[in-house]
Amino acid sequence: MRVAIVSDCHSNTEGLAACLDDAASGGPLDAVWCAGDAVGYGPEPSAVIAALRAQPLALVAGNHDLAACGRMEVDAFNPAAASAALWSREQLSAAERDFLADLPLTLTTGAFTIVHGSLMQPEWEYLLTAEQALAQFSLQRTPYSIVGHSHLPFWMEERPGRAPEIRRAGDGDVLALGGTRLILNPGSTGQPRDGDPRASYMLYDDAAATVTWRRVAYDIAATQRKMRAFDLDPWLIERLSEGR
Ligand code: ZN
Repeated sequence: MRVAIVSDCHSNTEGLAACLDDAASGGPLDAVWCAGDAVGYGPEPSAVIAALRAQPLALVAGNHDLAACGRMEVDAFNPAAASAALWSREQLSAAERDFLADLPLTLTTGAFTIVHGSLMQPEWEYLLTAEQALAQFSLQRTPYSIVGHSHLPFWMEERPGRAPEIRRAGDGDVLALGGTRLILNPGSTGQPRDGDPRASYMLYDDAAATVTWRRVAYDIAATQRKMRAFDLDPWLIERLSEGR
């Protein structure tokens, strides 16, 4: 089984398509797993929902998905994120908002549990520290969990008697599964924040028992043109070129 593991697609059609094309170039995909935030920030919420739903999909809700469908208020969002969430809400059809409103906060598929933020706070928590990783492992009922939200590709390993460390993952990094329990973050297909503007995702190969992080160049200028045409926040447009 080959699975493209994506997260934080954020209404960026070009970034998601580049990752799915890259994943499919090595053989057919059996599934796409997404750790949430299909929408928000970017120019094409409906198109990204459609692109995900065209795949055999496992998707959980992120904070932006919940805001865009009205299941969460935007008071706690920063001003740019709040206006993007409200703009996204207007772009979506009632059926698309219903689809987002019905998404689960956590989902288990095989040996993996998928959640947007953390198992402690699925919608909100940026899981980045040893303390948070220990709390996550205490709630994690599967060998592996997949998180998103921080837009940073990384992995953390459960090590008896030692604190888990965050290990940043770069293009081509391969991790063999088996042995220890793991927390995995594929990074973001739609708004990378680690200084590398290329879209980020993870490929899971169950026969090889590996996950591989991949970075894929995409047409950032095309996404930015669409954002300008909708008069979206300039800071959200500019950050795509910088990967911040
Ligand atoms: Zn996000």
